[in-house]
Amino acid sequence: MTGSTDVVAGNRLESGVRGACPSWCAAGHGVHLGEEDWVHLSEPLTVVEGLSAQLCMSIDPDTSAHDGPYVVLGSTEYTLAEAQAVAAALMTMAITGGHTTTVSVA
Ligand SMILES: [Zn+2]
Repeated sequence: MTGSTDVVAGNRLESGVRGACPSWCAAGHGVHLGEEDWVHLSEPLTVVEGLSAQLCMSIDPDTSAHDGPYVVLGSTEYTLAEAQAVAAALMTMAITGGHTTTVSVA
């Protein structure tokens, strides 16, 4: 590909979206037209069986206006802060479980 770009890593675009693609984007652009082609998606991460997570962000190629990034977990969209809170709560639960002691009851 010729021409300059400020994208350091990640997949480059065949056509369609001009300008920046987030470094984590794995979307195949140029398949959809219009706004659907502005959506950038990461590779899915399988969290548990039947549940995956993806980073998602849309960037208007003309105005550079963007929405996101968000973490899409299953079919629910979380802000980055919300996703971090979910992950932290799971970590806390797992750590708490790791410190389990039993108490005899009469
Ligand atoms: Zn992209």
